[in-house]
Amino acid sequence: MNTKGKQIQTFLKTVFKNQKTTVLSKKMEKILRSYMARKNVSKKYNQKDMEQIFPFQSIPNEGYSEREYITELEDKLLPYATNVGVSKFMGHMTSILPNFISNIAILVTSLNQNVVKVETGQSATFYERQAIAMLHELLYNHKKDFYNKHIHHIDSTLGIVTSGGTIANITALQCARNRTYPQIEKKGVYNEGEGVVICSELGHYSIKKAMGILGLGSQNLITVPTDDSNKIDIEVLKETIQKCQKKKLKIIALIGVAGSTECGSIDPLDTLAEIADTHNIYFHVDAAWGGPIKLSDTYAHLLKGIEKADSITIDGHKQLYLPMGIGLIFFRNPQTAKLIEKQSEYIIRKNSIDLGKRTIEGSRPAHSFYLQAGLKLIGKQKYGWLIEKGIEKANTMALYIKTLEDFELLTFPETNIFLYRYIPEIFRNKPKTKTTNNCLNTFNKILQKKQMEAGYSFVSYTTVSLKKYHKEPIVGLRIVLANPLVEITDLNSIIEEQRQLAEGINFSQYMLV
Ligand SMILES: *Cc1c(COP(=O)(O)O)cnc(C)c1O
Repeated sequence: MNTKGKQIQTFLKTVFKNQKTTVLSKKMEKILRSYMARKNVSKKYNQKDMEQIFPFQSIPNEGYSEREYITELEDKLLPYATNVGVSKFMGHMTSILPNFISNIAILVTSLNQNVVKVETGQSATFYERQAIAMLHELLYNHKKDFYNKHIHHIDSTLGIVTSGGTIANITALQCARNRTYPQIEKKGVYNEGEGVVICSELGHYSIKKAMGILGLGSQNLITVPTDDSNKIDIEVLKETIQKCQKKKLKIIALIGVAGSTECGSIDPLDTLAEIADTHNIYFHVDAAWGGPIKLSDTYAHLLKGIEKADSITIDGHKQLYLPMGIGLIFFRNPQTAKLIEKQSEYIIRKNSIDLGKRTIEGSRPAHSFYLQAGLKLIGKQKYGWLIEKGIEKANTMALYIKTLEDFELLTFPETNIFLYRYIPEIFRNKPKTKTTNNCLNTFNKILQKKQMEAGYSFVSYTTVSLKKYHKEPIVGLRIVLANPLVEITDLNSIIEEQRQLAEGINFSQYMLV
């Protein structure tokens, strides 16, 4: 064997065959442990720092040694990674994970099942269907006979694991679109009449994305304003439907939001279901955030009516505490997903149970392993506790902010998300005119950025149009109570930090903006 041949042999043996502990695996454990012990969200940074740390480079010809590579992770990646697991990270829907997840990750990647077809994921296909059926029962509560019949029936799809809520929402609208326009996938969109989709102005941007991708046109998404409690305004919705009918527009779907990304509000799902039913409209509920509320006996009533939805989106990587990359869609009628069925000769064959027959995605990991682990190791009761704790903490915190004179509570949490803002002294106890609100918007954005860059803690910001401010755009600081380890003292320290940062902002500089 020549030199190159020998080198190849060595390479194959060390990288693909040798599954023993390597330098990487030993060191990885160490650097992760010290990462997890960190208390701050991130090291202080700005864009320029990051650009210098990760400059352009070409693919290394020889490859790094594992030692060199781990050093790169330790020095460059981890110090600036966002530590979403610390309790002062309260700005987004991403949080700490249960400790069993990393072991399930090893299982998922070691087995490397591809659940697009049964040939590359035999038990995984059935394991996914079992997990989906458990949550389907929670949501739709059909009889046991129903589940025995449909759980593994090749014609039935109770739900699909997707890579996130976006794909789940696109899947729902694909079903709704194909129901309205049965020939659309074959003939294309342009021969069809005008179709619209209706949701509240707090609908997630993935809906608009879906409209574009599905050829329905984002301008054909009709957003209905929200009422005082940030729920879709039913009267305006009814008028909107009438107007559509007058103009002979086809209403492809009505979407209810269960846990709005902005402020956690939940649309009156029961009423929406009734309206959709009256007009024979496909009814989808985007419960990407709020769906798991069903796991709490105390708060499940907030989702009343969800069981009437044709389809429901839930994100596994949000309130089910599963890792990134897990969304879910559920169908009330197991035949609905047939609207998007595809076949191909070499995979996803007609008479198979191949999951890939009715999914947007092709090759797909066995992420249901995480779902199974979550549902079985945590269980319904303890998931319920997590939901209850989050809602109760959000309530306590919101009530506290209400008592402060330098802060204003903008939305009271219906679930576990709320918005508030800082009010500089000159604006306190004064009516909030449009000009005042514009100044406050600028100020709060600066405040949020300063807090993020300092790296101790994190809240996000968003812009909403609230009824109490005549639907003017209002910037709110946004707290999401996702992390179960957050204590009230963490919020106090966030408020205190914001106060201090606010005092350091030279406001007059921005007054003219
Ligand atoms: C997060 C979210 C989505 C999108 O889900 P991704 O997992 O980010 O793709 C859709 N709708 C709502 C209400 C959400 O909160």
